[in-house]
Amino acid sequence: MKVSELGEFGLIDLLANMINSSTAGQASRQQLIIGIGDDAAAWQGDESTQLATVDAFIQDVHFSLAMASWEELGWKAMAANLSDIAAMGGAPKYALVSLALPDHTEVENVTALYKGMIELAEQFGVALVGGDTCSAPLVAITITVLGNSKNRDKNILTRSGAMPGEKVAVTGYLGAAAAGLEMLTEKLQFGAEVTNCLRRAFLRPYPRIGEGQLLAEHGVKTAIDISDGLISDLRHICKLSQVGARIEVDRVPVEPMAKASFGDRSLELALSGGEDYELLFTGSTETVEKVKMAAPCPVTVIGEIAADEARKITLVDRQGNPFHLQKAGWEHFIAR
Ligand code: ADP
Ligand code: MG
Repeated sequence: MKVSELGEFGLIDLLANMINSSTAGQASRQQLIIGIGDDAAAWQGDESTQLATVDAFIQDVHFSLAMASWEELGWKAMAANLSDIAAMGGAPKYALVSLALPDHTEVENVTALYKGMIELAEQFGVALVGGDTCSAPLVAITITVLGNSKNRDKNILTRSGAMPGEKVAVTGYLGAAAAGLEMLTEKLQFGAEVTNCLRRAFLRPYPRIGEGQLLAEHGVKTAIDISDGLISDLRHICKLSQVGARIEVDRVPVEPMAKASFGDRSLELALSGGEDYELLFTGSTETVEKVKMAAPCPVTVIGEIAADEARKITLVDRQGNPFHLQKAGWEHFIAR
């Protein structure tokens, strides 16, 4: 059946039923006064610091229907938003989904989309409390996530707190998402294990929610999630913190499957590829050491923050020689 046969309100009813019969966000729902069905959602607030973020996910800009299943799209769109809450050290609580769909879209594709979103929402306690549905020439999925700071002193992670002398560190491994994108766009053939790993990294990223909260609890002040690319995202920290940075590229933890499939190019994918949704953060040597001990994932120091009026990021190799990067990362409206 096409969405045009079901109509806007029929589709909303179907999605509302799916959402309400899921267990996503049970704790958040306890504070919920009005969910899907009214003009706006309403819930009882609390005293913590509140967080809000929104991200658009547009067909042929952010994704291609030829490359991803609808379920993967739902997962990824939600993951990108939850990752922004992770980068603030917060806990996601509520999500609203604005959906634009061509008339000929199959209803089962829309339910698959919601299945992917709900699956991730269930894992992170997010209640889907509303949205908007309209017809458009292309698919657009715009998700708003609301959350709060979980820790007692309401400390949130920002991009503006990096201090000269602090270490620069990342969670997990980098480069696999960009390797996955290239594998899918260029139709590259790898073995089953590599193919699955790279596809998963690109289409089912796992937001570092727990890790973001752990950073905040251990006194980290500055973090960003890696969505555009390591260097590009580090540049945001440098700009807002008014500092420079020196990165030793050989210390960057390149995802082993990306290395196995892309060889030397994998380093560039790790530095500028983006969409790994790992956390990039800064802290004193002691703070980073504490985080390392407590984190459930690898944490790697890749360089240091420097006092620098020009906010310059210097890349060096193992010998201390300058390393040249082809392209720093993704930016909309910039000619390529
Ligand atoms: P309005 O005309 O006031 O904008 P709508 O008819 O758009 O109301 O929406 C009716 C209800 O359904 C609202 O509670 C809205 O939040 C919810 N809703 C609409 N579209 C979606 C969607 N794609 N996902 C989840 N909830 C939705
Ligand atoms: Mg509406």
